[in-house]
Amino acid sequence: MLIDSYNRVHNYLRISLTDNCNLRCFYCMPEENYEFTPHSRLMQPDEIESLARLFVENGVNKIRLTGGEPLVRKDAADIILRLAKLPVKLTLTTNATRLHDFVDVLEQAKVKSLNISLDTLDPGKFSIITRRDSFQKVMDNINLMISRNFHVKVNVVVMKGMNDHEINDFIAWTKDVPVHVRFIEFMPFEGNRWTSNQVFTWTEMLDEIGKQFHAIPIQGDKHDTAKKYAIEGHKGTFAIISTMSSPFCAGCNRMRLTADGKMKNCLFSEKENDLLSALRNGEDVLTLIKASIATKAKELGGQFSKDFEKIHTEDLHNRSMISIGG
Ligand code: SAM
Ligand code: SF4
Repeated sequence: MLIDSYNRVHNYLRISLTDNCNLRCFYCMPEENYEFTPHSRLMQPDEIESLARLFVENGVNKIRLTGGEPLVRKDAADIILRLAKLPVKLTLTTNATRLHDFVDVLEQAKVKSLNISLDTLDPGKFSIITRRDSFQKVMDNINLMISRNFHVKVNVVVMKGMNDHEINDFIAWTKDVPVHVRFIEFMPFEGNRWTSNQVFTWTEMLDEIGKQFHAIPIQGDKHDTAKKYAIEGHKGTFAIISTMSSPFCAGCNRMRLTADGKMKNCLFSEKENDLLSALRNGEDVLTLIKASIATKAKELGGQFSKDFEKIHTEDLHNRSMISIGG
C-alpha cells in the first residue's frame, strides 16, 4: 500500500498519455509556442503497462487516462486494451472530439464512465475558449456515449465573465438528459494567465444556481473531489470541484504520471520523480514511487493555501496543465 505521512492511502493513478492536443483551451495550454514532447520521450505502451502494473501491485485499483488529449495518440486503443487487463476501474478524461472512433474499444475495455470537457453550450464561445471549431462534434459524441449507456460527466471550468452566466443553462440540460455536470473552479498553472478575480467560487455558484433551482446535496465519500447535488425531477446531477476556495486534500488518494513518465504526488507539486528513466535503466522504480509518496505535502502541493486571493502566480513552480495531465 502507498501511504503518505498523513496516513492517506493512495489507490488512484492518473496517467497522461500525451501532452499533445487537437484543441487549444486557453486556460490549459500556454499561448507562447508550446512544444509537444517528442514521441520517443513519451512512455511507450509496454512501459505504461509495466508502470501501471507496479502501481496496481501496490494497491492502485483505479486508473484514469488523461492528457493533453489521450485519444490523439495513435496507439491509444492499444494502451486502453493493455490496461483493461489489470484489476482496476479504468476511466478516461477526454475532450470528446475523437470518441466516435473509440466506442467499441471502450466497451471492450469495460470502461463505464467518462469525463468529457465542455465549458460552454454556445458554439461561438466554444471557439473562443478552445481556439477550434469542434462544438458540434463534441455535442454529438456526448449524445453518442449517453446512447451507448456510458456514465457521462461533463467538466466545466467556470471563469468569471467568460461562462459563469451559463451555469443554469448547464443545469437545465440535466433535466431530460442523464448527464452529470461538474463545475470546476479555475486553477492557476504555468502560462494560463490565471488571476484570482477570475475564480468563480463554489458558494458563488450555489448562489447563482439557487436563483433558479433547489439543489439537494448528495452524500459523497471521503475521496470525492466533487461536492455533489441533485435536483428533483432531473435525470442528471451536478457537482462542484472547489479546489481553490475549499480544497479537499484531507481525503486525497491520487497520484499522477506525466506523459514523459514523471511521477507527481499532487497536481500542484513542484517535485517530480522520473519513473520512466528508472524503468529504462533497469533501476528500482518502486523505491522512487515510495519516496514520492513519503514527501507528499499536506495540501495543495505545499505551494499555496486556500486563501487563493493571496496567490502570486510567479511564485508557483509547476508545469502547465496540458503537460501535467488533468
Ligand atoms: N483533453 C482532455 C480534456 O480536455 O478533458 C483531458 C485533459 S484536460 C487537461 C483535463 C481537465 O483539466 C479538463 O476537464 C480541463 O477542463 C481541466 N483543466 C485544464 N486546465 C484547467 C484549469 N486551469 N483550471 C481548472 N481545470 C482545468
Ligand atoms: Fe486540450 Fe483538454 Fe487542455 Fe483543452 S483542456 S487544451 S482539450 S488538454
